[in-house]
This record gives sequence, C-alpha cells and structure tokens, in this order.
Amino acid sequence: MKKWNTELSNTKLWIFDADDTLWESGLFFRRAEEDFTSLMHSLGFDPKELVNEIHRRDIERLSVTGYGARPYMATLRLILEEKSEHLTPYMVDSLDYISNCLLHHPMVLLPGVLDSLIKLFNAGKRMIVYTMGEEDHQMDKFNRSGISEYFEHCTVVPMKTEETMKRLLSSAGVSPEEACMIGNSPRSDINPAIGCGVNALYVKRPFTWQAEQIEFVEPGLVATVAGLPDILPLAGLS
Ligand SMILES: [Mg+2]
Repeated sequence: MKKWNTELSNTKLWIFDADDTLWESGLFFRRAEEDFTSLMHSLGFDPKELVNEIHRRDIERLSVTGYGARPYMATLRLILEEKSEHLTPYMVDSLDYISNCLLHHPMVLLPGVLDSLIKLFNAGKRMIVYTMGEEDHQMDKFNRSGISEYFEHCTVVPMKTEETMKRLLSSAGVSPEEACMIGNSPRSDINPAIGCGVNALYVKRPFTWQAEQIEFVEPGLVATVAGLPDILPLAGLS
C-alpha cells in the first residue's frame, strides 16, 4: 500500500475547500431541515418520516441539479407541494423565510481558521479556495467571510472531480506533488485529489452531509486533522 507523504513543508500550493473546512455550512443546512420538518409537523406530517424522505430525495436529485443551497431548497419546496392540496400564504412565507436564512446565513469561521490562515499567509504560502456549488452563492460567502485577502482566488465548480482538480493545478502552474488539498469531504475533496497524485488532508467534521461520506480510495495516503491549526506544523510552521 502507498504511504502518506509526511513532508509537506515544500508544498507550493495549498488548496482549501470552503464549506465546513473554513466556515460553518452543514450546520445551516441542518437548521433549514429542522425548520422545514417543524413547519411540516405543524401541518400534520410526521417529522421522522420526512427526514428520511428529505435525505433520500436530496441524494436522488444530486446528479440532476448538482450541489447548492437553492437546489436543496427546491427539493424541500417540491416535497411541500406534493403533500399539500394547495400552498397557503403561511406555507409560502415559511418556506421563503427558511430559504433566506440558508442563502444568507452568517459567516462563522471554524475554530483556529483565522489565526492559521494569517500565519500561513505571513509565511508566504500560496493559498486558494476551491469550492463547489452555485457560483454566485459561493462567491457571496467567500466575499463575506472576511478572509478573502489571504487567498490568491476562489474557484467555484458545480462538482469536484479529478478533471476539475487537474484544470486547477494547470491554471496555477503546479504539479500534483507540489499541491496539498485540505477538505472535509471524502467524496469531493480527498478522493479526487488522491486520484490526481495531490497530497490530501482530511478535516473531520461532525456535520458532513451524508452523500459526501464515502470510503477513501487510498486510506494510506490520507492524513486526518482536527482543524486548520494542525496544518501549521505540517507546513513547517508552529
Ligand atoms: Mg466542504
């Protein structure tokens, strides 16, 4: 089995996932889900059955709509429409409110992110954000995050694959072994990086969406960290 490369101090490009790696995201999806099931409970539906249905439909629609808060809300709206004879103003207003809260949620950085980025930046490390979802929504969050100045740029793709990773490396002018991907999703961050020969650091988070939780393609090549501060010693900093 191939072994993980513990020597990352010569890494030329640090590639950060955004949602649930730099800032809270799954937490707000969870809140939207809880608000929606409460709404449905008020209309007489069983919340437990609904949660199962939401998760099932969410995975089903993924290959059609791609990732994002709006496609997620579209799934919730469809469930409401299917279960109701007609939508009352109460239902429409409640759904709009849940949608607004999700799309415009406050930007909450994860513990240690700000301090770690400042140290990496001051040490002259090249850093970019690489995220998936809808371009305008992801860029809005990036611009509101208060940490955009530490990154060269933010790249948004509809879905992360080995192909999109290769394009990213090519446009940055680095070879795979000179790059390190940091992210919380085995499916979207870690496996495509490993598949391209990029070093990968897995940030283990409590609220990772179930569709993203799959097996690592090469477990021996993945190092798990609790958060961004753990990266500093690997980058030759303290
Ligand atoms: Mg993520």
